[in-house]
Amino acid sequence: MQEIVGESLARRLVDWGVDTVFGLPGDGINGLMEGFRRQREKLTFVLVHHEEAAAFMATGYAKATGRLGVCAATSGPGAIHLLNGLYDAKLDHTPVLAITGMQETSVLGSHYQQEVHTPLLYHDVADYNLMVTNPQQVPGVVDIAVRNALAKRTVSHLSFPNDVQVAAAGADPYRHVSPGEPPMSSPVLSQPTVPAAQDDLARAAEVLNAGRKVAMLVGIGARGARDEVLAVAEKLASPVVKTLPGKMVVPDDHPLTTGGLGLLGTRPSEELMEECDTLLMVGTSFPYGKYLPSPGQARVVQIDVDASLVGLRLPVDAAVTADARLALRQLLPMLQAHSDRSFLEKYQRARDTWRAEMVSLQDPSRHPVAPQYLMSCVDAAASSDAILTCDSGTIATWAARHWTIRGDREFYLSGNLATMAPGLPYAIAMQRAYPGRQVIAFVGDGGFAMLMAEFLTAVRHELPIKVVINNNNSYGQILWEQIVLGYPEYAVRHRQPEADFAAWARACGGYGVKVTDPKALPGAVREALAHPGPALVDCDVNPDEPPMPGKVRYEQAQHFTEAFLRGQPHKVATLASVARDKINELRS
Ligand code: FAD
Repeated sequence: MQEIVGESLARRLVDWGVDTVFGLPGDGINGLMEGFRRQREKLTFVLVHHEEAAAFMATGYAKATGRLGVCAATSGPGAIHLLNGLYDAKLDHTPVLAITGMQETSVLGSHYQQEVHTPLLYHDVADYNLMVTNPQQVPGVVDIAVRNALAKRTVSHLSFPNDVQVAAAGADPYRHVSPGEPPMSSPVLSQPTVPAAQDDLARAAEVLNAGRKVAMLVGIGARGARDEVLAVAEKLASPVVKTLPGKMVVPDDHPLTTGGLGLLGTRPSEELMEECDTLLMVGTSFPYGKYLPSPGQARVVQIDVDASLVGLRLPVDAAVTADARLALRQLLPMLQAHSDRSFLEKYQRARDTWRAEMVSLQDPSRHPVAPQYLMSCVDAAASSDAILTCDSGTIATWAARHWTIRGDREFYLSGNLATMAPGLPYAIAMQRAYPGRQVIAFVGDGGFAMLMAEFLTAVRHELPIKVVINNNNSYGQILWEQIVLGYPEYAVRHRQPEADFAAWARACGGYGVKVTDPKALPGAVREALAHPGPALVDCDVNPDEPPMPGKVRYEQAQHFTEAFLRGQPHKVATLASVARDKINELRS
C-alpha cells in the first residue's frame, strides 16, 4: 500500500514519541484519519464529542506530562471549535500541536463550503502556523512544528488540504527548480536546562542577603524545584507564597508555606506581601499586581527561564534568566542563613489561625451542603498521589483552600485563560497519561454542562476518572462579582428543573450518585472514588455561599452593602451564609 501524506504525518508523530491524538473526524480530515488508522498500533486516537474538549485534552495531557499534546479537527467548524483549548495552552505556556483540515487546494479562494482559512484564524494563537501545500514538506515541517511547540512551550498548527492528505508521500507535483532537500532531522529536541549566569546570581544573592523580611512567591515554573525552593526558604527564613497553578510546588501542610495569593489566596500571604522588604519570585508570571508589594516597598529578585517575562508586574532589582531548579541550586551556597526568623514565625502563626478558620467553614452540619465541606470530603478520601483538575468559577476557590497538596498530589486548572469547562477533559487526558492514578475533576454544574458529553468519552475509552460536581444550579462566581460590583444579581441562576447529572452518568454506563444530604456525602464520595470505572458525584451545594477574598477590602464591603440596599433578590439566604463567616469583616 502506497504511503500517503496522512500516514507520513502520523509516522513522524510516533517518531517524536507521540502516543495519543485527541480529536474528532470530519470530511475535512479523512486522509489524516486514514494515516492515524494505519499507525493505530502506536498512536491511539481518542475520539471525543466536541473539538474544544480535544484541545483541552491535548493541553491537559501536556500540562501533566511535560510532553507534547496533540489534537486534530476537521476543516471549518471543527478547527474553530479547537480554538478555546488552544488559547488555554498558549496562555499557560503548554506545548500543543493542532492539526486541522482544509478544503482541496483546487477550490481555495472560490468561497467553497467550509472554506475557513485556519492559518489566518490561528494567527494569534499559534507560534508556528502553516498550511501544508506540497507532500514533500512532510515530515520536515512536522519536525519544525513540534520543535517550536516544545522549545517555546506554545501552540503549533499544521493545516492539511484534503488533496494533500491523500497524495502519495514524497510526491512533488509542482517541481521545476529544485530547492534542495526538504528539512528533516532527528526527532529529538535538546531542551537547554539553562543555568544562571554568575553575575546575575551574585546580584541576586546580594539583594537577598541584605533583606530582613524576605518572602518567596513561587509559580508553576518552579514545579520541579520543590526541594530547592524549601532549602532556599529555610535559609532565608522566608515564608513561601504560592500562585494558584503553583499550588503543587510545595505541600500545603509544609510549615514554610502560607498558601496562595490573590482573590483565592490566604490572608497571611496577602499581609506578608504588604510587609516584606525583599521578594524572591521563582517561575511565576502572577498577574495581579495589586497583591504584590507596592513599588519601592521591596527589592525584587526574579528567576524565570524566559527573559521576556521578567519584570512584568514589578521593577526587578536582580533578574536571573535560568531554569528554577538549577538557579536555586546555584544560589543556595551564596546565601547567608538568616538568624532572625521573626518575620517567618509571625506569618506561620497567622497561617495556623487561617487554617483553623478554613476548617471551621468545612462544617458538616450545614444544609444545603457547604461547598467547602464537599471539597474537604474529597480531600479526605483522595489518595496521596491523586490529581485534581478544576474549572473556573467558585470551585476554584474551594479547591484553592480546601484541596490539600500533600505527598505527590497534583492540581491543574486553566490559569491564565481562566476558561470554563476544561476540568473534565483535562481529567480524561491525565487519566490516559497516568492509568494507575486517581484523577478527579472537581467542577461546577456550569462548566460540566458545557462539555458533559465527554463523560461518555471516559466511559467509552475505559478511563476511570472521577467527577465531583459542586452543583449550585447557578454561575456562582459571576453572582458574587455582580454583588461586589454593587449590582443586584442578574441572569446568573438557572431555572428549575435542576439537571440530574448523576442520571446522565448512569445513562452513559458509568456510576452516578446524587447527594443532597450532608450526612450522606463522605460515604458517597468514598464509594465513587473506590468505583473501578468512571464515576460521578452530583452534590447540591448552597448557591449562596460566598467565595470570600482572604482579606475583604473596604470597596468590596461598601459595594456589597449597597447592592443589598438596592434589593438583592436572595438577600436573606445570602446574608445567612455570609454571616457564618465574614459578615463582621464586611461591616467593618
Ligand atoms: P504562569 O503564568 O504560567 O507563569 C509561569 C512562569 O514560569 C512563566 O513566566 C514561565 O516562563 C516560567 N517558567 C516555566 N518553566 C520554568 C522553569 N523551568 N524555570 C523557571 N521559570 C520557568 N492565581 C493566583 O495566583 N491567585 C488567584 O487568586 C487566582 N485566581 C484565579 C481564579 C480563577 C477562577 C482562575 C481560573 C484562575 C485564577 N488564578 C489565580 C490563576 C491566574 O490567572 C494565573 O494563571 C496564575 O496566577 C499564574 O500562575 P503562575 O505564575 O504560576 O503561572
